[in-house]
Amino acid sequence: MPKLASVIVFLGPPGAGKGTQAARLSATLGIPVISTGEMLRQAAQSGSELGKAVEGVMASGHLVSDDLINEVVDERLRRSDCNSGCILDGYPRTVSQALSLEGLLDRLNLPEPVVLNFQLASDKIVERLSRRRQCPQCGASYSVKHHNNSARCERDGSLLTRRADDNPETIRQRLELYHSTSAALVDFYRSRNYHEIRASRTPSHVSRELTRILRGSRPVTAIPAVHQTVLSATA
Ligand code: AMP
Repeated sequence: MPKLASVIVFLGPPGAGKGTQAARLSATLGIPVISTGEMLRQAAQSGSELGKAVEGVMASGHLVSDDLINEVVDERLRRSDCNSGCILDGYPRTVSQALSLEGLLDRLNLPEPVVLNFQLASDKIVERLSRRRQCPQCGASYSVKHHNNSARCERDGSLLTRRADDNPETIRQRLELYHSTSAALVDFYRSRNYHEIRASRTPSHVSRELTRILRGSRPVTAIPAVHQTVLSATA
C-alpha cells in the first residue's frame, strides 16, 4: 500500500496543550512539528534579522504580519523533512494565512490539512499559562504546581524559564486577539476536514482522541516512493 502524506493543523488558544500533543504525534507519525511561535522565539534568541523584526511584536502579544509569517512557513515547508507532511502548530492564525497555506500545499503536492481545533475555557487557559515553564535548551514544556524558580528540565537539566509572553498582561492580550481572530478561521475550515478537541482532559485522553480522528480521516496524497517514511501508525 502506498504511504500517505499527512498535513495536520492545530488550532486553539495558547495553553491548550497543542505543543505537548504535537510532540507526541510527531514521534508517532514521523513527521516534523512546525511551530511558528517556536521558530520566531529561536530567531529572536539568535539575534537574526528576522528575530530583531519580530521580537517587539511577540513581547506585546500581537501577531507578526501575514506576509512575514507566510514567507517563514513557505521556506520551512519546502525542506525535505516535510515531504511526508508536517504538523503545523500556531499557523495559520488568520484567514489570509490559511489561504496562503492552501496555495503552498497545492504547489508542494501535499494534501489538504486535517484541522484539529483544541478547545479550552479561558479560566483554564490563564491557569495553565501561568504554570507553564519551558526548557531554554530543548524547548520542552512543563507545568509547575507551585511558583518554583529552581525547577529543571528532565531531559537536559537546564533551569526552566517562563516564556516572556506568559505574563498576565500579555496573556490577556493574546487571548483577546485569539478570540477576535479564531471565529473567521473556524468558519474557513469548518466545512473541510475539521474536528473539535476537548482539551480540558488529560494529555493521554487527548492523544487517544487525536489518534481516533486521524485513523478515520484519510489523507489524500500519495508520497512519491523516494520520500516514503514511517507513517504506518495511522494506517
Ligand atoms: P505561540 O508560541 O504560537 O503562542 O506564538 C508566540 C507569538 O509568536 C505570537 O504571540 C505571535 O506574536 C507570534 N506568532 C506565532 N505564530 C504566528 C502566526 N501564525 N502569525 C502571526 N504571529 C505569530
